Amino acid sequence: MLSLRRRDIVCQQAVEMVTDYLEGSLPRRSRRRFEAHLRACPNCAAYIEQIKLTIELTGTIEPEDLTPEAKADLTELYRRWRSE
Ligand SMILES: [Zn+2]
Repeated sequence: MLSLRRRDIVCQQAVEMVTDYLEGSLPRRSRRRFEAHLRACPNCAAYIEQIKLTIELTGTIEPEDLTPEAKADLTELYRRWRSE
């Protein structure tokens, strides 16, 4: 659960952690922080949705390639992915 000195990561940090998070290489503590940030930050939640879609489509992580349409379409996909 939450530690006594939980420090929220900022969006910049969250973005930098995304690839490691999705690859499963993020340390457990960082992963928990990252997930906590996603729950608190709709912007980052949307961002990771885009990245997840990119991975699904291309097998690589290139968020710059994402379109607004892709972003919208990914909401459902991401929810499914999270629930697994
Ligand atoms: Zn954020």
